[in-house]
Amino acid sequence: MSEPADNGSQTVEAARRALSARLQAAGNDSAELDARFLVGAALGLDLTGMITAAGRAITRDESNRLDGFAQRRLAGEPVARILGMREFWGLPLTLSAATLVPRPDTETVVERALELLRAGGPIDRTLQIADLGTGTGAILLALLSELPNAHGFGTDISEAALQTARENASRLGLADRATFIACDYASGLTGPLDLIVSNPPYIRSADIAGLAIEVRDHDPHAALDGGPDGLDAYRALIAQSVSLLGPNGSLVVEAGQGQSGDIEALMTAAGLSPAGPPKADLGGIPRAVSACRLPR
Ligand code: GLN
Repeated sequence: MSEPADNGSQTVEAARRALSARLQAAGNDSAELDARFLVGAALGLDLTGMITAAGRAITRDESNRLDGFAQRRLAGEPVARILGMREFWGLPLTLSAATLVPRPDTETVVERALELLRAGGPIDRTLQIADLGTGTGAILLALLSELPNAHGFGTDISEAALQTARENASRLGLADRATFIACDYASGLTGPLDLIVSNPPYIRSADIAGLAIEVRDHDPHAALDGGPDGLDAYRALIAQSVSLLGPNGSLVVEAGQGQSGDIEALMTAAGLSPAGPPKADLGGIPRAVSACRLPR
């Protein structure tokens, strides 16, 4: 049974519904989910807490905070930026202005990397892995969470991104197995490595202006811009990776839509051998492209 609302203010449930309707009217196609997250964040409640508190009146402070969040979302700021965190591979990750918001599609890279490692032996063997352009540390920390005896290197040209990645590693209890290095892709690393992963910038420069506001105005430009044909980062990181991979080492990269064939061709031209067809994401887009070092 719900308590009557104080001073005619809304209940938690009514506030959630009102926000959902407001976002939907503005053309947001994830209005329901966004409203749940924003009400939860404004009130400091998780989903269970929100259900328990559904009938209580929200306070003036909560109402003001929620309205601030609503304005930001209506102006195109993604929910993850407003919350300052996003879950990836079940791990809560802090975001900063210098990091991309981790996307569910990128979990395909983690899945493919784990498949290749599993095919090579027990998952608890000693492994040296690297994530080039680590951002929040998402891919690296997901892998370290699955590989108990792996050590990981996360690189980024942004010191601010590395600071965020370090914080995430610490909070997740993975800091003692993660080393973060400021450099361009793999340029600061030494091998041999068992696995190299990367979700590099891959949007064609000319396409950036046409991206959704959430991406164009809120993800760091340096994490998006892949140069004139979107493939600049792959050229650099594939060339650097070849000599760093150990005998059975593999490289797994995220591809933008329509790029997997070009990336495979770059890998082959660099002397790597494709490790099976690209792995598709949940939307059916070939997303994780992988290759192995050819035996010498
Ligand atoms: N996946 C991001 C997007 O399409 C792009 C990230 C990237 O360039 N690696 O919004």
